[in-house]
Parts: sequence; C-alpha cells; structure tokens
Amino acid sequence: MVANKTVREINPITKRWRRGLKRVALVYPNRYVGGIANIGLQYIYAEINSLDDYICERFYWDVFHGLRSVESGTPLGEFDIALFSLQYEEDYFKAIKIIEESGFKGLKVAGGPCVMENLIPLKGIFDIFVVGEVEGSIIRKILETIESGDLSSIPGIYTGKEKEVKRVKPERLEDHIVNQIIGEGAYGRCFLLEVGRGCIRRCRFCIVRQIYFPPRWRDVKLLLEVAEEGRKYAEKVALIAPSVTDHPKIKEIIARLIEMGYLVSPSSVRADTLDEELMDLLVKGGLKSITVAPEAGSEMMRDILRKGIDEEDVHRAVELAAERGIEKVKLYFMVGLPHETQKDIEEIVRMVEEVKRKIPRVAVSINPLVPKPHTPLQWIPYGGDPSKTAKENLKDLNSKLKFLKKELAKMSVDADTSSAEAFALQTILSRGDEKVGEILRKGKPTLRAFKQDLEKYLGELPVDAELPWDFINHGYKKSRLIKEYSVIMDMK
Ligand code: SF4
Repeated sequence: MVANKTVREINPITKRWRRGLKRVALVYPNRYVGGIANIGLQYIYAEINSLDDYICERFYWDVFHGLRSVESGTPLGEFDIALFSLQYEEDYFKAIKIIEESGFKGLKVAGGPCVMENLIPLKGIFDIFVVGEVEGSIIRKILETIESGDLSSIPGIYTGKEKEVKRVKPERLEDHIVNQIIGEGAYGRCFLLEVGRGCIRRCRFCIVRQIYFPPRWRDVKLLLEVAEEGRKYAEKVALIAPSVTDHPKIKEIIARLIEMGYLVSPSSVRADTLDEELMDLLVKGGLKSITVAPEAGSEMMRDILRKGIDEEDVHRAVELAAERGIEKVKLYFMVGLPHETQKDIEEIVRMVEEVKRKIPRVAVSINPLVPKPHTPLQWIPYGGDPSKTAKENLKDLNSKLKFLKKELAKMSVDADTSSAEAFALQTILSRGDEKVGEILRKGKPTLRAFKQDLEKYLGELPVDAELPWDFINHGYKKSRLIKEYSVIMDMK
C-alpha cells in the first residue's frame, strides 16, 4: 500500500531506488483521476519496473504539481528519462510547465493520442516521440537502445529525421495486465478491464477509430480469468474500449462479472446497442445514470457525422433506463457542423425536450466540433461554414452556444457548453504546424497569439495541400478521406 497526502492506492509494484538503477518518470500532465484510469500507462509502469536496471515512478499534475513522484516524492529533476503521456491538447501547456519548473534535463519522450494525431507542434519540446500503442515492449526497446544505438531504427519512433513514421500496434490483444494499481480514478476505485481496442463504427468526426484501427476484441475466457484475479483487489470493474457494448460477447461478460460480485462500470455505451437484456444487466451491475451521444439534433446532421444512431435509438435507450428506475441521462451534442442551420440547432432543443418528458434529470453537454487530423472532416473550417471567415464562424458558434444555453435553461436543463475560443485553440494545436510549436514554446498562448493566421489555422484547409500530419502513417488511404470529404461537402 502506498499512501501520501493526496493519493491512496493499492500498488502491487513496490520497487525502491538503489544505486545503479536508472530512474524513469511516467508523467501524466493532467489530473490523477484520469491518469490512474488509463490502462496504457499501467502497462508501461509495470513493464519498466519489471526490468532489473530501471525503476519507474509516476507524476500527475495535481499531485505535488507534477514535480515530485507519487511513490517516493523524488523530484522530477533527479530522473534520467521522462515519458510524457499526452491525451488532450490542453496537456501541452501543463507538460511544458512541468518541464520548466522541474528543471528536468534528461531525455524527454512523448507518446499518447496527441502524438499519434499530430506531433509537429511538439517538436522542440520533446526529444523523441513514440507513435502507437506501446504496451511496454516498445518502451523496453527504447530504454535498451538509448545507450547503445540509433533510436530511429525502432518502429514507431520519430526523432525528427524520419520522412514517415508508421504507427505500431499489436495485431491481436493476447494478454491483459493483472498487476494494476488501484486508485480513485475516473470510474471510481476499480479494476480496469480492457475488452477491446479500436472501433467497428465509422463516425466521420472520430479520431479514435482512425488512430486505433483496426478494431480488436479480447477473448472472453481471458477477460474473465483476469477479472477473477482482479476481484481480490477491487469490488468494481471498469470496462474499457472506445465502444464497449459493441463487444460481440458483452452480455456474457457483464453477466459473469456480476456473478463474481463486481459492480460493473462501462466506460461507454452506444444507444443503439441497448436492449432490455443489456439494460437489465447494466442496472444489476450498478448503473445509476446513462450517457447517450446523439451528437446532433437533426437527422441530416447525424448523417453528415455518420454517427449511425437515430432518434428512435436515443428515445428507446432513455425509456429502457427510466423503466428500470434510472433517473438521470446525460446527452452529448456538437455544433459547428458543415451545412448546419438554425433549424438544426433548434432540433437539439426539441430532442432534449422530448427526452426530458421521459426521465426526471437531463444533463446536456455541447461542444464545438474540432476538425481532427486523420478524419474525413480534417479539412473543414472550425465552425463548419467554408463561405465564412474564421471570425464569422467563431461568432456564429458563440451565438449557437448562447442560444442553446438559453433555450435549455427555459426547461431547467443545465447545458454545459464549452467556449468557442477554447475549442478554437484546441483546433489550432490539433492541426498545427511548426509555427504553432514556436508560439507554444513561448508560453500558454491565447487565440490572440494567432490573430495574423486565423484563416490559415481555423479556415478550410486546401484539399490538395500536404498536411503537417500526413507523414504519420495510420494505414488509411488519404484519397479515401478526400472522397468522403467531397461527399460531405456536396451533401446539401
Ligand atoms: S462509436 Fe464512438 S469510438 Fe466508435 S467511431 Fe463512433 S464516436 Fe468513434
């Protein structure tokens, strides 16, 4: 058991530093609750600590300000290598702050979804990048090669010299980590069970399906054996995958987990996979509220996103939940889609109103759509309308968000809306080039820092231009994305 002022956790790996051991810092530049619920980091941590010559300790933004390790309180500056996991664009600012304030002088390695998305703005901040699902084996290779050889010879590594970098991934998910640290994470104190990786759906806005392609499921027998072991340490299990309920044997898995005495928390549930049997199981597993992501209010907008969920699915999911005593639903929407009109925005209000009649508590989250690299929507202007300037699109987004907040408040629904400016910055970092990196290195930028180049970074990107992230090979053909993009833009 490891404990300090802020963290209480069960940690099966207790390794103490002794002379001769190389120190590796695993840095999550965001909150502990997210970091401890990240199964990828658990793999890396266990792998490094299994090596004779290394010790790995963790750093989180909200534990000692990311400057001292959770395990021993050792300052980051005393470590030899720091592995940063970048999950969100906002993490860049925190990572930079941690590097600066700690005075860390060792080797800085970055990985995670943001690196797989577009690492170019991060060049000059980190020394090397790991593109892919690293599990642990690749980390072992990196550590071995740091002293002895050329890192660029390792697949999935970008050192700045490579013309192309191909994402690395295991073809099959053959094993599963048992030795996990159990802490108070995003899903509570629970054992993490990763049922699969990648997604069988083809939502056009979604980068997850692109950077974790192809979909791979874990075998039921393996999952249940691992869960049986994990039961010794936790009463709750979190099922992890981009779309958990798409696992072909999900009902059997949940039923068996309940038999083991687990409370079951699925990290994501698609409304169209819910039927009576699955809902019964989820309620039995302790489900208290449901989350549904229709993403848009009108059918036309959902077609553009190719979400594959229709309004009936949403209502049926809510009804199934309400019939079983669940009182709360959270709905997720996006605005700033191509061809979006005021009518489409009003459709969100109408849908929420209808849902509200079925279940007592409705919470709504509305975000502007961020055009993500590697997706068919990567070229769209932020705000969605190519006939408008970046400023006009921003203004429209603000008034759409304001309208929704006001209309939803009239029916006592609290809408959690993000600021159009914050998401604009996210778009710039997401689709950024080396110049964005230069600005980033000067300190946390506001949108004003990009005012000369707003059109370049927020406007529609030219389809025939080379994009900063084109050299990251995720296995798809760019021509297919271009084709899909022209289908979307011609949809009206
Ligand atoms: S179902 Fe979810 S994870 Fe899968 S493609 Fe759609 S948005 Fe992405």
